[in-house]
Amino acid sequence: MIVDFHTHIFPPEMKNRHQDYLRDDVLFSELYSSPKAKIATAEDLISSMDNSGVDLSVILNAGWTSHEACVRTNDYILDAAARYPKRLIPFCAIQPKVGEAAIVELERCVRGGAKGIGEMRSDTQGFDLADKEVMGPVVEVARKHSLIFLTHASEPVGHQYPGKGKITPDVLYRFISTFPELTVVCAHWGGGLPFYALMPEVASALTNTFFDTAATPFLYQPHIFKHVVEILGADKILLGSDNPLISPERVTKQIESTGLPAEAKAMILGGNAQRLLGWS
Ligand SMILES: [Zn+2]
Repeated sequence: MIVDFHTHIFPPEMKNRHQDYLRDDVLFSELYSSPKAKIATAEDLISSMDNSGVDLSVILNAGWTSHEACVRTNDYILDAAARYPKRLIPFCAIQPKVGEAAIVELERCVRGGAKGIGEMRSDTQGFDLADKEVMGPVVEVARKHSLIFLTHASEPVGHQYPGKGKITPDVLYRFISTFPELTVVCAHWGGGLPFYALMPEVASALTNTFFDTAATPFLYQPHIFKHVVEILGADKILLGSDNPLISPERVTKQIESTGLPAEAKAMILGGNAQRLLGWS
């Protein structure tokens, strides 16, 4: 079974790059001002999954700055997952800075079927992931419902790209160490955090942390798979494409080309995700 842990879908009105979204939301205008930026609806994603042999996709929302944008897009994501219950797993977005309203929204999304929170963007959303006052109540609800917390991440070095942001390994490490019981998925290989797991204390802090491979072809050489398997183990890696930015088969081809044992490949391609999501 192939599970893509990192995809994005948006309501059709966002696909048409509605001027209100461009004006109101920092993240949306950074990522999608260019008419070349790809935006997919649920139907686009399903047809792309069919073409690339993906059985199941986690549909992520995004770290919008306004609470209202989170609510509107959560509605669409929950509705899409309800329409394709065997293909799509919904994650919702919240703006933790609004306090109680974010918790109410999170509980609403859980009732609507959400299995996680993400893709969060604490840098553009303007809060500190390790701030116990802001994040404590969110983590409490996440733990109560066994939600997975998926955050964007990026490299502190290397080339710039739209939406790169500043959620670097040091930021993630403080977050994970503050909330060790929370199940966290760091997108885009955690901006290189797995490499620091060569330090024993970092390795033990990552007990409940996983890494997705979203956008690998834009960021790393394919042998990153072999190295992270060696450092952290194949059970920590989740296939993620960042569809529609990248088609899933570009990443699955990278995985096929790694020369990893079949068992490790199967874990990365879907086994780990099934286990984390409790999907049978
Ligand atoms: Zn991301």
